[in-house]
Order: sequence, then C-alpha cells, then structure tokens
Amino acid sequence: MANFAEVVRSLRQVFRTGRTKTYEWRYAQLSAMLKMMDDNKDRITAALKKDLNKHKIESLIFEFNLCRNELILTLNNLKEWMKPEKVKKELLNVMDKCYIQREPYGLVLILGAWNYPIQLTILPMIASISAGNCVIVKPSEMSEQTAILLEEIVPKYLDNECIKVINGGVPETTGLLQERFDYIFYTGNNVVAKIVMAAAAKNLTPVTLELGGKSPVYVDRNCDLTTVARRLVWGKFVNAGQTCIAPDYVMCPSDVQDPLIEEMRKVLVEFFTEKPEQSDSYGRIVNARHFKRVEKLLTGVKVAIGGVTKEEEKYISPTVVRDCKLSDAVMQEEIFGPVLPIYIVKDDKEAVDFINDREKPLAMYIFSRNQRIIDNFVNNTSSGGMCINDCIMHASMPSLPFGGVGHSGMGAYHGKFSYDTFSHRRSVMQRDLKLDSVNAIRYPPYTEKKFGVINWLTKKSVKKTGVMSFFPLVLFGAVLAFFLKAVGVQARWPALKEQ
Ligand code: NAD
Repeated sequence: MANFAEVVRSLRQVFRTGRTKTYEWRYAQLSAMLKMMDDNKDRITAALKKDLNKHKIESLIFEFNLCRNELILTLNNLKEWMKPEKVKKELLNVMDKCYIQREPYGLVLILGAWNYPIQLTILPMIASISAGNCVIVKPSEMSEQTAILLEEIVPKYLDNECIKVINGGVPETTGLLQERFDYIFYTGNNVVAKIVMAAAAKNLTPVTLELGGKSPVYVDRNCDLTTVARRLVWGKFVNAGQTCIAPDYVMCPSDVQDPLIEEMRKVLVEFFTEKPEQSDSYGRIVNARHFKRVEKLLTGVKVAIGGVTKEEEKYISPTVVRDCKLSDAVMQEEIFGPVLPIYIVKDDKEAVDFINDREKPLAMYIFSRNQRIIDNFVNNTSSGGMCINDCIMHASMPSLPFGGVGHSGMGAYHGKFSYDTFSHRRSVMQRDLKLDSVNAIRYPPYTEKKFGVINWLTKKSVKKTGVMSFFPLVLFGAVLAFFLKAVGVQARWPALKEQ
C-alpha cells in the first residue's frame, strides 16, 4: 500500500504554491482531460463492457458523452464562473468593494462507486479541477477494469503532482480516510457513508454524500400505459437496474397493475427480445455477492415477468413482481438490480403517506395527466430530485442540481453546481483607509447620539404584503394627480396665477 501520508503531504505542498488556482492550469487540465477521453474512447467502453457488460451505446450515452459534455460546459464557462460575484451593498457600504470570491478548498478526496465507474469519478474530477483543487481519486474496486484503466491513463494526460488516482479496496479507502482532506466527495451506500462522515468529522472536513435508497414511482389511472411502460422499463432495466436513481418500486391503484404488467411485458420483448440473456443491450450484475443479494430478494414473491437467474453469468432477467407485501424483502431494502416490485395503493393520497413514512428517496417518479395529483406529490413529499412522466431524465440536465436529501445524501453537483460544490464562497469586503471620521459612530465611547445615527443608517422595515404593498404607488399616484391638476388649472386660467 502506498504511503498515503506522504502522498497527501506532497499534494498539499504543490497546492500551497498556488499552481492549481490559476485559470490557465485549470483550463489546461480540463482540455487534457477532454483529450484523454477522446483518445481512450474505445478502451473506456471496452472496460465498461468487461465490468458490467454495458453495451457500447449505453456506455457512450450514460458515461462517455455525459462526461464529455460536462467538460465542454465547464471549459466554456470557467472564466465566467471564476469571476468574483458582485453583491448588493448596504447604505453603510456604498464606498466599499464587496464580493464573493470562490476559492478552492485545497486537497479533495473523491471516492467513486462501481455502477457508473467513469461518470462517478470523472464528473467530480472535472468539478474539483475546475474549482482549482488538488485531487486524489479512489475508483471503486468492484469495477476493476475501469479502475485499472483510470490509474493508467490519468497520469499520462493530467498533472500528476496535483491529481492522483489510487486503486485498492476497503483497506486502501480506510487508509486514505485516516488522512486529513479539505473536502471529501463520496458516492456509494449509506452504511459506508457513515464511516466516511465519521472520518471527516475528526478533522471537521466538509463532505458531499451521493447515496441511494428506494426511489418510488406512482402510476395513476388514465395514463397512456404504453408510453409509461416504455419509460419505466428503460429507467429500471438500464445497467441491469444498477442505477442509483432507477425506479425502485411502483405504486398504483389495483386496476392499473394488470394492464401495466402487460404493457411492460411487450416493451421488454421489444427492448431485449424474448431471450434477454442473448441481448447485447442487457447488462449483468457486477459481482457474485450482489448477484446472490438480488437473487435472494425473489424468495417467496409473486413473479409476473422474468425471474430467471444464471449464477455463472451473473445474469438476472428483467423481473416484475406483482402484489407485493410490505413484509417482502424486495420492499424493505434498496434493490439495485433488475427487479421491479408493484405495490397496490388506493390512490395518490395513500402513496404520499407511504413515501412520507419512509426515508427521503434520491428520486421520485410520477406518471399522471392530473395536475392535482402531480402537485400533491410535488408539494407534500421530499426527495433528492423528481421527474414527472418520465424516469432518470432530470439527472441529465446540467442546470438542475443532482443530489440527495436526508438518507439519500447531502450536497449536489452537475454543471455550475459542481463548481460551487468544490469551491468555498469567501466573503470579501475591501474598504478605504481614508475618511475614518465617518466610522466614528461605531467606536467607543458609546453614546445615545451615535446609536441614533447607526439605527437610522441600518434600520430595516418589513416589506408590506397584500393591499398595503400598493400603498406607496397609490400615494405617488395621488400626489402626481394633484400636481397635474394644479398645473393644468394654471395653464387654462393663467389669470388665476396672477391673483
Ligand atoms: P462501492 O462498494 O463501490 O463503494 C464505494 C466506495 O466505498 C468504494 O471506493 C469503496 O472502496 C469504498 N468502501 C466500501 N466499503 C468500505 C468500508 N467498509 N470502509 C471504507 N470504504 C469502503 O459502492 P456501493 O456502495 O456498492 O454503491 C452502491 C450504492 O451507491 C447504492 O446505494 C447506490 O444507490 C449508491 N449510488 C449513488 C449514486 C449517486 O450519485 N447518488 C451513484 C451511484 C451509486
């Protein structure tokens, strides 16, 4: 195992030289990263194929292109994002320069997860570099081929004195967490998240935790179930269900269950043929441990579609489970595999209560034509993100922050939010040394007179709401009308003026 203390020490030393803070360094590293991605496109998709049997197109859409587009967005906006942000000033500060300066934290640790091993390491790397930090990246040991590839290519393209990839498993992560970092960005399950947070707490290190959970779906009556089934099946079975924002379970009224299952059956054949194990568009479970875990969830449930498992291939067919009970294991823990349980509820009100009785999910999906029902979920539940009448798509918008809430995580990233996450917002006020007499009112000895002036200068009043908010406008109108009337009268009867 590498000497982590020494690695951390050397990265800190380089950070202190200020090298990573310049626009030129950040831009050059991000451009080199773009080249790294382009030069190694085929190797990246090949590694993902070996790790998760991902189809090349799926890898390009969900990993490669996503990272590439984020890189381009960051390169195109970096100069603007780095500018100090002007703020609104108070009466007392009109002569001062007041702004927010975004500064790098220093040394950042990124712990990646295995299910999207390129996206979940490259996106936070782009963010931390763009914000001017030094970085240590620890890809997940479970997606081994991708981790090996990253360890090989990153030092060839990027500044190795400031950016390092360290591979290894639990002992290496544990060793790294013993060191002091200025920011930790962790993606994974919430059991390890507590270990990460406890390690960070020892040094009061801020963290972003990108976690998972059971993301619910509600399918209303009167929906176009063919479209619902297509979007639901796509979101659930991409990457063989190993997606943090995959629909975890479906809630629907009882009369929706059978027609929805029939539509999903047709869509599954359309997407993956009658024999999904032979379809190159369908993935595999990452390893034997996860295969056994997901397979066990099928014990004692009513399988409506699929349910076929092949241990030697780590294959679990796209599976839909009907009439689930709360006591079923599949309704107890995050599935993170290609199994979709259906749980019957009376209506949206019961579904909202069901969601609110549990931990806040990472994502929520509502299929409905009825705005009252949609609003009921939007206004009366909480989740990291939400997509109405589709799945997953909200996470592809760089202008929407991506992250969890409560047990599904803390902090968010993507697009400008990534840059902000890895930057400390420092408040800066620059004053002049001249005219200190103006400041005399704040210096002792304190007097009632000084207090009166301070009070006047800093006094705030609550904004009027409702009818009273129009009062100044009405007053202004009345004064104007009076004035115009007086002027008009004088113009028509100049003699009046003379009197
Ligand atoms: P994982 O097993 O790859 O673990 C992630 C990281 O934690 C790895 O780098 C690993 O080395 C480290 N780790 C594992 N056990 C550890 C321990 N005991 N001590 C210290 N470090 C340890 O990933 P995972 O947890 O299986 O990932 C799946 C989970 O992540 C799911 O819950 C999923 O929903 C969630 N996830 C969330 C997001 C998101 O963006 N919110 C993305 C992907 C996955």
